[in-house]
Amino acid sequence: MLTNDLNEIWGEVLPIIQEECTAVAFNAWIKKLSPIDLKDGVLSLSIDNEINKNLVFRRYGELIRQSFKLVTGEYPELRILVQSQIDEEKEQKREPQNKYDKYTFDNFVVGGSNQMAQAVCVAVADQPSDVQYNPLFIYGGVGLGKTHLIHAIKNYINENEPDIKIALVTSENFTNEMVEAIRENRSSEFREKYRKLDVLLIDDIQFIAGKKSIEEEFFNTFNVLHESNKQIVITSDRPPEEIKTLEERLISRFKWGLQCDIQPPDFDTKLAILKNKAKEMNLTIDDQILYRICEVANSNIRELEGALNKIMAYKSLVNREITPELAEEALKEFGPRDKADITPEFIIDQCSKALGVSQQELYGDNRKKEISSARKVTMFIIREILGTSFPKIGALFGKDHSTAMYAIKSVENQIAVDPKLKMNISDIIKDIKNERGQ
Ligand code: ADP
Ligand code: MG
Repeated sequence: MLTNDLNEIWGEVLPIIQEECTAVAFNAWIKKLSPIDLKDGVLSLSIDNEINKNLVFRRYGELIRQSFKLVTGEYPELRILVQSQIDEEKEQKREPQNKYDKYTFDNFVVGGSNQMAQAVCVAVADQPSDVQYNPLFIYGGVGLGKTHLIHAIKNYINENEPDIKIALVTSENFTNEMVEAIRENRSSEFREKYRKLDVLLIDDIQFIAGKKSIEEEFFNTFNVLHESNKQIVITSDRPPEEIKTLEERLISRFKWGLQCDIQPPDFDTKLAILKNKAKEMNLTIDDQILYRICEVANSNIRELEGALNKIMAYKSLVNREITPELAEEALKEFGPRDKADITPEFIIDQCSKALGVSQQELYGDNRKKEISSARKVTMFIIREILGTSFPKIGALFGKDHSTAMYAIKSVENQIAVDPKLKMNISDIIKDIKNERGQ
């Protein structure tokens, strides 16, 4: 369907939804949705973040579908995507190969924070049949170069030993491929494909955690390859033992080989990476300004590159030379976020959004189950993040210390038996910290 038509329909759907939900909910979530497309009976909408996505899906999914039906007569399936994921998908579609073809050892800047990881990756790439570290497990924070390195291994082997059978997949793609294969009765083909490889490279393994059948399949593939002495390289955003809900037997397999971490880069490495990047982009840019970028951006290298791109975009927009002032202007949003900035009020605000209960209700006395349990969870999260005392938490909500203590204990008890709740809460905590750059 044409975007214009869909926008028009959405314009008619909105007032119907508005009738059916509170003004707070409408403003907080429904308004944030934008229609993307309607294809094969699936209505795709986008929203700003994961928490809102889950909430809207759970609470308002049915209402949205019904309202849509009232306008079009069609009762669609619903898909909600997070904007950043869409951007990423688009980017990958636009330059599926090119982007990663650029990821080589040549353009990987080595510094103290990544030299060990780089060295073992080069060793593996140089002699993929002489398996010494198996599996090689590379882990580190977002934007520190894991994907770059694992693609560099693939590109290097392809170039130097084109006969070697090699596959590089994200664990998400591995999962999708397997699900599809099962659906289309091609499981054995799928199995075959992965088990006859010489080198298997898996990016972002943490995403298979908790998906039992996928873990099982991966476990078997792993064993087959490992037993026949084929190289496996895995990346992850954290060490194996910290991947919650990952099966113990996989964790122990991952520890068989070599684990190697990438640390955030120090100032000099950041600077070297930026200089390299500027050169790749054919940019002449004053060292002073590069220094400045390194100062303001945090250690995520993707963010560093983003800062540089931003300055370039700004430059072409205002059509001036890059002066330090111009750079400053463009860099405003990259300032290090204030780490001391999480207040109880901020947590309450975030919990209200994540749990779909208004702040007023959280602060109030309403004992309706849904509201009172959201209130308890909020108290628990405040305690968890800030370590605030029970009397203080009680006071925040106009309650005494024993009420707060009881509430927090009850959440603790629930978490112990309800892994889903535990996961939800830890996601909320993660998001709150993320919002504040922690
Ligand atoms: P991760 O997979 O760890 O989240 P990426 O490998 O996607 O991070 O890196 C993010 C961006 O930073 C990529 O564009 C990558 O090329 C670049 N990058 C990371 N580390 C380096 C490095 N040491 N030298 C050059 N570029 C780097
Ligand atoms: Mg990556």
